[in-house]
Amino acid sequence: MKSVAGIYFDGRQAIAHRVVLSVEAGRLQLRGETVNRDELLSALTIPAPLGRSPRLILFADGARCEVADSVGFADLLPERAGGWLSILESHIVAAIIGVLLLLGLAIAGYRWGLPYAAGAVAERLPAEMLTEMDHQLFASLDQHWLQPSGVPESRRADIEAKAFGLAPHAEVRLMFRASRQLGANAFALPGGTVLVLDDLVDLTANDDEIVAVLAHEFGHVREKHALRQMLQATVVGLALAAYLGDVSSLLAAAPAVLLETGYSRDFERSADRYAADLLISHHQSPTLLADMLDKLDVYWRERYNLKLGDRMGEFGGYLSTHPGSAERIAFLRERR
Ligand SMILES: [Zn+2]
Repeated sequence: MKSVAGIYFDGRQAIAHRVVLSVEAGRLQLRGETVNRDELLSALTIPAPLGRSPRLILFADGARCEVADSVGFADLLPERAGGWLSILESHIVAAIIGVLLLLGLAIAGYRWGLPYAAGAVAERLPAEMLTEMDHQLFASLDQHWLQPSGVPESRRADIEAKAFGLAPHAEVRLMFRASRQLGANAFALPGGTVLVLDDLVDLTANDDEIVAVLAHEFGHVREKHALRQMLQATVVGLALAAYLGDVSSLLAAAPAVLLETGYSRDFERSADRYAADLLISHHQSPTLLADMLDKLDVYWRERYNLKLGDRMGEFGGYLSTHPGSAERIAFLRERR
């Protein structure tokens, strides 16, 4: 039979009696030289353990028993072993698990739920609203970042004719501009306006090369990547703005979101697949786009004075808004 040693006080005299505690048939038995006591366990009060102090057993008549051996006590009365500390400990574990679950949920929500929601919203926004969005964004870009294009009217018309021959979407509009800050670049705005910058046109050897870049941008348009990107950034931004109580700075930042937040690699791969299929179906080679990515890589490295092997991702420009160039070039060269 399990037992544990304790000190018994009868509640009338301050005399300590050595006893041995055991349990049988729901009764606590105390045996000692001067003590012989049996009590129903249900009639006893056993306070929760406090740190390392001895466990107490209180009797209804004022007597008490102290047990210093908390392990032996827990062994004898396992159902009474848990005190506030162990309860708290199990609650802390539960709380930590809860926090981790919540964190996991938030990350999953950010990683998968938010893109899904943005995609669903992007599909449902009316075309007129998107056109208006492009209009306002373009006005803001024109004001801060863009200058009139120096590409001759006739060349622009040729590029437009070839691009629309490739992908005659009603939703696509080409806009030619120059930009000192944005350099060799092309952007798809949320409503389908594709902005083509002079430095990009200057990099191309022929119209087919620029059209290959546009095929990639058409992929972004078709799959509403810019809109989804902005919706995602706006949801996070709005949540942050609500928290910080400042919405105006967020709205002012909308064009920067478009220009400085790169697309995800998933979006890039997807736009490349779209471009490759489009080019192949028009008897053009996806290597045209790969060649342009090579040229853009050299251009942006020179612009930022980067050595070969330096990381590019943190810098602005086409390759940071359309990331993963090495991987993309390899894919496009294989698709030829
Ligand atoms: Zn892209």
